[in-house]
Order: sequence, then structure tokens, then C-alpha cells
Amino acid sequence: MSDLQTFREETRDWLESNCPPEMRKPGDVCWGGRNPAFSHPDQEVWLERMGDKGWTCPMWPSEYGGGGLTHEENKVLQEEMFSMGARPALASFGIWMLGPALLEFASHEQKLEHIPSIVKGKIWWCQGYSEPGSGSDLASLSTKAVEDGDNYKINGQKIWTSNANYADMIFCLVRTGPQEPKHDGISFLLIDMDQPGVEVKPIKLISGKSPFCETFFTDASAPKSNLIGEINKGWTIAKRLLQHERSMISGMGLATGAGSGPRKTSGMAELGKRYVGTDEKNRLDDAQLRTKIAKHDLNSRAFTLTLQRMAEDAKTGGPSATASMGKYYGSEQNKLRYEIMLQAMGTSGLGWEGEPFAPEELAITREWLRSKANSIEGGTSEINLNVISKRVLDLPD
Ligand SMILES: Cc1cc2nc3c(=O)[nH]c(=O)nc-3n(C[C@H](O)[C@H](O)[C@H](O)COP(=O)(O)OP(=O)(O)OC[C@H]3O[C@@H](n4cnc5c(N)ncnc54)[C@H](O)[C@@H]3O)c2cc1C
Repeated sequence: MSDLQTFREETRDWLESNCPPEMRKPGDVCWGGRNPAFSHPDQEVWLERMGDKGWTCPMWPSEYGGGGLTHEENKVLQEEMFSMGARPALASFGIWMLGPALLEFASHEQKLEHIPSIVKGKIWWCQGYSEPGSGSDLASLSTKAVEDGDNYKINGQKIWTSNANYADMIFCLVRTGPQEPKHDGISFLLIDMDQPGVEVKPIKLISGKSPFCETFFTDASAPKSNLIGEINKGWTIAKRLLQHERSMISGMGLATGAGSGPRKTSGMAELGKRYVGTDEKNRLDDAQLRTKIAKHDLNSRAFTLTLQRMAEDAKTGGPSATASMGKYYGSEQNKLRYEIMLQAMGTSGLGWEGEPFAPEELAITREWLRSKANSIEGGTSEINLNVISKRVLDLPD
């Protein structure tokens, strides 16, 4: 038996013994944090077991609490989890964005301090990039950090900070070199949210929800040891982290994507059959919708292979500017998936809340609206197209 085959069997056995029953069904994924909220007791058990094994971050070095798996072993783990219907144990910006950046740019001591707590879901991280007036033109940001003894004193404002109202810490871009050209005066700083100088105001949307916030810093403080990389060299880290963010968004609409979604690509046909009905061959009884779903499915399969190839190419260096291609196309695929589901559901997809709509119908309608934001978050589609033309195709400005 090959090593990989042995690993597959051991992995399957371990998952069989350790994945609690409730975690083998679709559902929400916990975000951890200092005061974690678990929607079911099994969620806590699952997080603890996966965190101890390092399998919340399977390929991160075991020295820092990660799983230490190779690409091939990780693929086996994902396949085994998928075939069991196991949900991810943890969702977090620490896993998708900050951790990979720390592994590349932080000192050994900083990695020891922050990586294990990301793996175990002990800290809920949020992202402090955008500011009013500095979104696409991120390098124009003006939140300031000035030296103050062993600390930095931070003043300014961030906006659209997802989940800042739950987060324990924020990874933040701050201006430390006001005299330098704009890209050369930015640093990457980790700031504790639990202090009087940090104020968070959730932004209420027409949905009634507040998925993101305004974050204000008034003489907030962070120790100098929380500066990642060199002073005024944060732009390189910022761009790298965005590539990881874009890679994560790329896979959202796919069956093996980052989300836990119960309604991945194959779900469209089932949904169509349920709402539209079936013909004598047990096919979805709407030829036009069938064609749309088949085309989406084929494109998703091809896209999955492209993402795999990109991941293979990036094995040594992590994602590159090509992450913008994945982010752009992945966003379009995800939005189209929800458009198709809404079309299949007909008037059942028109509900916002309450009777006579089923909870799943309401959830799909809300996720359809949420999918529109895929073209904005992590850099808008226009900005990603600019990156592709400049950094991938080498076209002039
Ligand atoms: C769901 C969601 C979650 C988010 N979470 C976070 C978060 O956690 N942390 C965080 O820091 N930010 C977050 N953001 C903010 C996001 O990064 C910004 O919204 C995004 O970068 C765009 O910036 P902006 O909103 O200021 O738009 P603007 O930059 O003002 O852009 C407005 C329009 O102009 C276009 N445009 C701008 N410049 C150019 C150009 N050079 N060429 C062509 N077109 C251009 C844009 O494409 C866009 O259509 C989130 C956004 C969303 C939607």
C-alpha cells in the first residue's frame, strides 16, 4: 500500500471516530474567538479536536500548531471530509488571510505568538484595510501610527470592517511614514480591539443585518512587537494578503470551496427538479434551465481544474497576481449560481422573511443578494481586471 493510501485510511478512521454526528450535516461554521459562540455543542468538540490535530490549517507547519501535511495529503483530507459531509471546523480571516501572511513575513517569535491561536480558533481576527475615501485606492489610507515609547499610538478610521463587532484583534494598515511616497509609508500592525481607544459602530443594512462596521481609533495602542515586517514596508504584506483573500473568494462557488455551503453546484439541479418538476426521463422539466445548469456545471469543473493548476504552480511561492483571475471568475460563477437557483425557485424565491416561505427559501434569497458583494469585497472586479492587465498580461498602464 502506498504512503498516501495508508494516510487516506488513517484519515478516514480518524474522521470516523472524531467527527461528531451534527458536524456531518450542512450548517453554520463557528468563528472561534476569545468568547466563542457555538450553535451546537458538537461544534465545540469538533473545533477542539481539529484544532489539536492542526487540521483547521492542514498545511501550516506543525512547529506552529498546523497539520504539517503535504499538498497531496491535504487533498486526501479534503476529499475524505467532503465524502463524509464534514463541515470545516473553523471559519476565520486568520486562516484565510492573516496566517499565510504571518508565515511569510513575521518573525519566529511573532509566529509562535499568533499562529497557534489562529489554528485553534482562539482569536477572532478582522481586517482593517478600507477607509472612507481609500477603498480601491487603498495606498492613499491615512490612519496614522506614531511611535510612543514601546508602543505605537494609532488615530484614524477604518470602514467596512467585516465582523469588527465580534473580533478580538484587527490586522491593520497604518501610515507610519507620512513624508514618504504613499506606497512606501505604510506598515502592517496588529491591534487589540479590547481597549478604550477602539470604537466599533456596526453599519446597519436594509436587510436589518450589520455584517460590517466603522472602526475608530482614538489614541489606541499597540506594542511595537506587533509590527509585522519592517516599518514602512507594509504595502508588500498588504498586497500578498490580498492575493490570499482573492484565492479564498475564488473557490467560494465550488463544491470544495471555502464555505460550508449546503447548496453547491450540484444542488442547482435538485432545486430545479423540486420546484419546476421532472420530465419522463426524470430530468429537470425546463430545457432552457437545464442548459444553463449544465453550462455552469461544466464551467465550474473547468474552473476547479484551473484553480488546482494555479495552486500547483504556486506550490512554492503561494498565490500570485493570477489570484485576481480566480477572484474575478469565481465571483461571476457564484453570482450566476444564485441567479439560476432564484430562477428555478420562481415566486418561492421572492420572500424576504416570514410565511409562507420556508427557511431554506429565505436563506437562498438572502444569499443571492449577498453574492452581489463578491464583486466588491477583496478588491472590486474593475480593480482585479486592472491587476490582470498589468501584472498578468503585462499591458501598459
Ligand atoms: C461584503 C464586503 C465585505 C468587506 N469587508 C471588508 C473588511 O473586512 N475589511 C476592509 O478593510 N474592507 C472590507 N470591504 C471593503 C472593500 O474592500 C471595498 O469596498 C472595496 O475595496 C472597494 O472600495 P470602495 O467601496 O471604497 O469603492 P471605490 O474604491 O470608491 O470604488 C467605487 C467604484 O469605482 C470603481 N473604481 C475605483 N477605482 C477604479 C480604477 N482605478 N479603475 C476602474 N474602476 C475603478 C470601483 O471598481 C467601484 O465600482 C468589504 C466590502 C464588502 C462588499
